[in-house]
Amino acid sequence: MAAELWAGISDELRQEMGNSNHKSWIEPLEYVEISADSLRLRAPSRFVGDWVKRNYHDQIIAHLQKTGLGVKRLDFEFGPAHSPSAAAPEPARPRAASDDGLQSAPLDAKLCFENFVVGKPNELAHAAARRVAEGAEVTFNPLFLYGGVGLGKTHLMQAIAWELQEKRPDLQVLYLSAEQFMYRFVQALRDRQIMDFKNLFRSVDVLMVDDVQFIAGKDSTQEEFFHTFNALVDQNKQIVISADRAPGEIKDLEARISSRLQCGLVVDLHPTNYELRLGILQRKAALFSQSYGSITIDEGVLEFLAHRITSNVRVLEGALQRLFAFSSLIGQEVTLDMVQDCLSDILRSSERRVTVEEIQRKVAEYYNIRLSDMLGPKRTRTIARPRQVAMYLSKELTSRSLPEIGRRFGGRDHTTILHGVRKVEEMSGSDTQIREDIELLRRLLES
Ligand code: ADP
Ligand code: MG
Repeated sequence: MAAELWAGISDELRQEMGNSNHKSWIEPLEYVEISADSLRLRAPSRFVGDWVKRNYHDQIIAHLQKTGLGVKRLDFEFGPAHSPSAAAPEPARPRAASDDGLQSAPLDAKLCFENFVVGKPNELAHAAARRVAEGAEVTFNPLFLYGGVGLGKTHLMQAIAWELQEKRPDLQVLYLSAEQFMYRFVQALRDRQIMDFKNLFRSVDVLMVDDVQFIAGKDSTQEEFFHTFNALVDQNKQIVISADRAPGEIKDLEARISSRLQCGLVVDLHPTNYELRLGILQRKAALFSQSYGSITIDEGVLEFLAHRITSNVRVLEGALQRLFAFSSLIGQEVTLDMVQDCLSDILRSSERRVTVEEIQRKVAEYYNIRLSDMLGPKRTRTIARPRQVAMYLSKELTSRSLPEIGRRFGGRDHTTILHGVRKVEEMSGSDTQIREDIELLRRLLES
C-alpha cells in the first residue's frame, strides 16, 4: 500500500514538474519505508538525494500530507536498489462495478430524454447531450452544461446516463454530484485508500459530475478532481460536467481548472421562455393525468401557470402536482379560481420582485450614465440606447403594464415604451453586443 502511495505521488509530481525533471529526479527514487513522521527513499547517489531534498522536499511532503499522513520529513539512503521490485506498484485489483465506490448515484427513471421538452432556450444543450449519449467517438471533451437552478441540467445528465446504459452496456458510466465526489475522496483519505480511489475513478469510461461549483474553494478536492479529469481526458474518456454558472465565473475555482473545463464544449441552458414552460406543463399534465385517472386540466390553466410561474421548472412542476392532488381529493375539475386558491403561496412568491427603479439603476450603472439622464429628455444615442434597454428589461422582468412603465420613465407615453421595447428586440436579433449586454443585465438583476 505504501509503495503504491509513493507511485501515486510520483505520478502527480510528474504532472507538476514535467516529464524531464521527473525522469531525472523522481523516477530514480525508490520507496523504502514510511513511519509516523518521515518517508524514507533510496536515491542512486548522494547528489540526487541532496538535489531532491533541496528542490522538491516541500512539494513531496505536501502531497503526503494531502493523503492524510503526518509525514514531515524525507530521509534518504544511497546506493543501488535493494530489491528491484520494491517500488513497483501492485497492479490494481480488478473489481466488479458494484462491489465498492464505483456505483453511480441512483438515477431517476423520469429523467430521460423522452420526458425532456426541447425549446429554444435549451435546444443546444439538448443536442449536445444527445450527441454524448450516442456513446460514439468523443468529439468534445468535456461537455460543460451550465445554467440557473431548475433548468434541466441534472435531467439532461441523467438522460445521458440512461441512454448510455441502454445503448452501450459495455461502458462504465459514472454519474455523481460534486458533493459525492468530495465525500468519497475524503473517505478515501480517512481510510488511507487514496490509491484505490484514484484507480477506480480512472477506470470509468464516462464520468459525469453534477454541480461542480460545489468543489470550488475546497482545495484538495479540486486538486484531486483536476487530476482525475486530466487522466480521463488523456485516455480520451468522455466527461460531462454541470455547474450553475460558466467555468470562468465560478468563484474560487482554480484558474487552471476553469481553463481546462472550457476546452470542450460549453453550453448554457437559458432561462425558460413562455413557450417552453407551456410545453413542459402540457407534457407533465399528460403524465400526471395518467396516474390520476380521469382528471384533466384546462389549457387556460396551463397558460396561466406558464405566464405566472417563471422562476424555475421545479416550481412549475410542484404547482401542477399540487393541482392534480387537490383536484382528485375534492373531486372537482381544475378551474382558474381553484388555482388562485390552491397556489396562492407559490404565485405570491414567484411574483417578479425586480422593480422598474432597480432596473433603471442597474442599467445606468452598467452603461455608466446618470440616472437623471435616463429619466430625463436627452435623446443622444449614448443615453437613448441604455434607456431603451431599461424599458425592454422592465417589460420583460416586471409585471408592470406599458403605461405604468412609462410613468416611471419620467412620465413617458406608453407608445414610447413600446417603441423602445420593439427597438431592442429588433437590435438583439442582429447585434451580438446588445444581446450580451441584456443577458448580463438580466442575470445581474435576477440574482
Ligand atoms: P437543475 O439540475 O438544472 O437544477 P433539474 O434537471 O433538476 O434542474 O430540473 C428540475 C426539474 O425540472 C426536474 O424535475 C426536471 O425533470 C424538470 N425539467 C427541467 N427542464 C425540463 C424540460 N426541458 N423538460 C421537462 N422537464 C424539465
Ligand atoms: Mg441539478
